[in-house]
Amino acid sequence: MPSDTAVPKPLLETRDLAKSFSGLKALSGHALQVREREIVGIIGPNGSGKSTLFNLVTGFLRPTSGAVYLRGQAITNLLPAQVSRLGIARTFQGTRLFGQLSVLENVLVAAQLRVPSTLLGVLLGLPAAHAAQQASAGIARELLALTGLEKQGHLRAASLPYGDGRRLEIARAMATRPSLLMLDEPAAGLNSGETRALAQLIGNLRDRYGIAVIVIEHDMDLVMNLCERVQVLAQGQVIGEGTPAEVQASARVREAYLGSDDAA
Ligand code: ADP
Ligand code: MG
Repeated sequence: MPSDTAVPKPLLETRDLAKSFSGLKALSGHALQVREREIVGIIGPNGSGKSTLFNLVTGFLRPTSGAVYLRGQAITNLLPAQVSRLGIARTFQGTRLFGQLSVLENVLVAAQLRVPSTLLGVLLGLPAAHAAQQASAGIARELLALTGLEKQGHLRAASLPYGDGRRLEIARAMATRPSLLMLDEPAAGLNSGETRALAQLIGNLRDRYGIAVIVIEHDMDLVMNLCERVQVLAQGQVIGEGTPAEVQASARVREAYLGSDDAA
């Protein structure tokens, strides 16, 4: 009898995934497998399809063809809220916070997305709903502490300095209790000290919650120090994949992305 017990299903898999925008192939033939607890980097020049990949995986875009699997289950045509509930959380390339809500409220709203019946239950005075609300509050406080925002919980999100806002986005994504966290250029606009702290934070979140992480990033130090595996895109296609060292040594990657001149 054939057995598939030896090889665990990848946490996330894309197969032959493609997206065209009125003739322009933003992504084509994309294949990626991400294991539980793995930290994978996606790099490539501007316009190479990195954010499109995130939008396809998280249901913000429908693929032209191909499929996305989460633990072997097809999630290709689900809506963003459904993908979130199955355990994939993301941040966006630009900051998208609820500016008028407090820092704590931003995280609480996300924590309660996972249990949408909580609010009604609380209004009805149901004990289980009360317990769920308490649990959400506990998770929110823990995430603010981990992201170094515990003292800013009462501030309006719009009033945060840029770097704090970017960490709040990560806290908010984590509050949905994902098994996969997808970060789109989280270090953009951060200074080198903040970028180092960010790499540490991402590693800590993986260790503490056992999540896998896919990170799109231009900061090569962050990618090389944090990621166990890197995939390189150019013009919508995968042109390289391997350990950070393998990718850095690849002539094709250097030519397309890192600049071939500095190889001499
Ligand atoms: P990256 O994140 O790697 O910079 P994107 O995935 O944002 O690249 O974009 C890939 C290509 O697809 C670019 O040429 C971009 O202009 C195009 N594109 C992305 N999103 C859209 C869209 N919603 N409508 C039309 N074209 C798009
Ligand atoms: Mg992008």
